[in-house]
Amino acid sequence: MANIAFIGLGNMGGPMSANLVRAGHQVRGFDLSPAAVEAAAQLGVTPASSPAEAVEGAEAVVTMLPKGEHAAAAYLGTEGAPGVIDLVAPGTLLIDSSTIDVETSARLHEAAAAKGLPFVDAPVSGGMSGAQAGTLTFMVGGQPDAVAAATPLLEPMAGNVIPTGGPTTGEAAKICNNMMLFISMMAAQEGAVLARRLGLDAKVFHDIARVSSGESWAMRTWYPVPGITDTAGSNNGFAATFSADLAAKDAGLALAGAASVGLSLPAAELVAGQLRRALEEGEGDKDCTIIIRQIDPEAPG
Ligand code: NAD
Repeated sequence: MANIAFIGLGNMGGPMSANLVRAGHQVRGFDLSPAAVEAAAQLGVTPASSPAEAVEGAEAVVTMLPKGEHAAAAYLGTEGAPGVIDLVAPGTLLIDSSTIDVETSARLHEAAAAKGLPFVDAPVSGGMSGAQAGTLTFMVGGQPDAVAAATPLLEPMAGNVIPTGGPTTGEAAKICNNMMLFISMMAAQEGAVLARRLGLDAKVFHDIARVSSGESWAMRTWYPVPGITDTAGSNNGFAATFSADLAAKDAGLALAGAASVGLSLPAAELVAGQLRRALEEGEGDKDCTIIIRQIDPEAPG
């Protein structure tokens, strides 16, 4: 069993770190939010009051942070505060599971390599429910030795651990996957609204769609009608399982990737626009499925 530092204990990092504890690892957790540290402590994570305290004696560090700027601050440090790359002992394995832009991920790989530290980008798919159940899909990019070393540590949190190739390829895979998620999320929302307006019972329609050609992860996991799927934000006033702010970030990463290779992606542009509008309307901290209200302002939830 390993000593693992876990930095970023939010909707995803909290339950992920708890699954490492359940697997018998010693996990020391740090988050800028004391409430997030406290919630993880309830699940068996040892609280740390700084990144330095979290990584002391750790053989591996896992980060689960919102955006590229947060991952850069955590690994590279900020003025007066050294980053993880400077704080860890030689040979410590670094695993960044945050969904971030490829350019920042490349900078982190380079900074780690300059210190001789193994580093993988290992973003995940599966949502908060997958984090809780330990069934996430990890997409792991990095040097083969680092990917091989990371795999057994990821397994207690994972349903699938899939090597993607060299550095930053995990992030590229994740960005493409989430673009598809958001498009299928819109399909589930438009189907749910239309079904309601046509007088169909929500459960009857969901029972049909989940075994029919309208099926998708989004409609199975985030069906935007309260009381149909346990894991949907609509059950809980659209409290974030995955915030509109982070979804808008990911949609933006997909569009930036497309632009960098001269592609235009009309469906991705549409959903990115809806997510941006949610932010403009002050709903960035709500669940990303809140955009159903742009189709149907009276959508329940
Ligand atoms: P979240 O906002 O719930 O949690 C992020 C946590 O990081 C917060 O508790 C915040 O206080 C903490 N934090 C920020 N900067 C920090 C720093 N420098 N040091 C320590 N802690 C810091 O976000 P989340 O939903 O858990 O998402 C985390 C990452 O996982 C994001 O990149 C997101 O895109 C990705 N992701 C989320 C989901 C999902 O369904 N929620 C699914 C797959 C991937």
